[in-house]
Amino acid sequence: MAEIHEECGVFGVYHVENAAMLEYYGLHSLQHRGQESSGIAVSDGETINSYKGKGLTVDVFQKEKLSAMKGNTAIGHVRYSTAGGQEAENIQPIVSKGHNGCLAVSHNGQIDNDVELRLELENHGAIFQGTGDSEVILHQIQYERGTLLERITQAARKLDGAFSFLVMDEDRIYAVRDRYGIRPLSYAPCRQGYVISSETCAFEVMGIYESYDLKPGEIVEFSKDIVKHYQYTNDISHHMCAMEYIYFARPDSVVEGKNVHTFRKESGAVLARKDQDLHADIVVGVPDSSLSAAIGYAEESGLPFETGLFKNRYVGRTFIQPTQAMRDQSVRMKLSPVESVVSGKSVVMIDDSIVRGTTSRRIVQLLKSAGAKEVHVRIASPVFAYPCFYGVDTSTRAELIGARLNVEEICDYIKADSLRYLEVEDMREVAGQIGLCLACFDGKYVTNLYTHGKELED
Ligand code: AMP
Ligand code: SF4
Repeated sequence: MAEIHEECGVFGVYHVENAAMLEYYGLHSLQHRGQESSGIAVSDGETINSYKGKGLTVDVFQKEKLSAMKGNTAIGHVRYSTAGGQEAENIQPIVSKGHNGCLAVSHNGQIDNDVELRLELENHGAIFQGTGDSEVILHQIQYERGTLLERITQAARKLDGAFSFLVMDEDRIYAVRDRYGIRPLSYAPCRQGYVISSETCAFEVMGIYESYDLKPGEIVEFSKDIVKHYQYTNDISHHMCAMEYIYFARPDSVVEGKNVHTFRKESGAVLARKDQDLHADIVVGVPDSSLSAAIGYAEESGLPFETGLFKNRYVGRTFIQPTQAMRDQSVRMKLSPVESVVSGKSVVMIDDSIVRGTTSRRIVQLLKSAGAKEVHVRIASPVFAYPCFYGVDTSTRAELIGARLNVEEICDYIKADSLRYLEVEDMREVAGQIGLCLACFDGKYVTNLYTHGKELED
């Protein structure tokens, strides 16, 4: 079965000495958004040099490599392939060197109408190297006429879907956000220049605590040491991806003004308020993404928060997975139950989401095998029943357990003693003033779904 994966992260450095090194730290902080590949493009004011490869940022870049990448403006990318395969051609930033100069693009999201645009561009003579939709952005910008800002404006108006992207030429960076505000993008002053990031956690590691979000439909230009704001459309809405709060973003990030840890804690508290009649002994969160919600549940319910599950953080991409025979002998490399904590206890197990149901089923089994008397599963998000077409790889609808089974049936499948999810309305309550995309929970997609309408019907 196909693995489900996270989306991507973009990071930009404008006018800061030794930009490649700062890029490296920025991308490292965004590594949780994608571990498949990592890339940096640096401009020295005259030309753009790039280096990229498969794997983690720390594996792709060594000190010598970074020192050789001279320049004070850079964009970078960490990715997990959403649109497009895992071929080397699709690794970002994508760089082109044309007669009118160099351009580099880093993109997080998914362009809905990329097939139509690609076809049109090919009919006009564009030659694509890879299969990803990020290359469509680059070609579309090149195809338009006028100044670079005019070309980006025209291109952004034609793109539909969810995107946050950075465009760099020899001496400028443009940051662009989709009109629905689905994917996040923030920027912050840094020394004599600026840094731009998918998530604010990358700023905080640099000691920067003052940052700004791009508005939906906005282009921000970083050039000649100043920041200029342009609105490429006024037809905007506010639909921040709810999964950023639920699962993707780091707890120390602030998304649309709200700290992710706080959001998760509040979600856990809502779950606890619905459990007035439940008699349990301890609260256990599935590490790492569910720990904040578990703390929120514990605080609200008055039950003790316990480390009932331990995660080995060193099980990476290249880790040699145990064979089936070893698994049968209980080789649990990634997640282990803490027997002395859970044995004989009635456990409230908090997880952030159920996608295919395999993880929850496995964890319930782990806790029970360690002697848990009862396992009550509480999910800090609503039933995940629809695929995402906005840059989050959630596999097909058929693979989503919430699309096939009702809550009672899912409870039976994961072998829990009880199961409860948050409602869509609960998510809205926690979000307060922040508008959310909740399409994977309620099926209400905010874009036209050009190429995906059919997939949804199947
Ligand atoms: P499963 O139900 O086994 O498919 O996996 C659910 C778990 O995967 C959740 O507990 C999340 O921590 C994690 N998860 C949720 N969405 C994604 C995603 N798009 N990519 C990777 N992992 C995810
Ligand atoms: Fe996020 Fe779900 Fe909307 Fe996709 S459909 S952008 S995962 S909330």
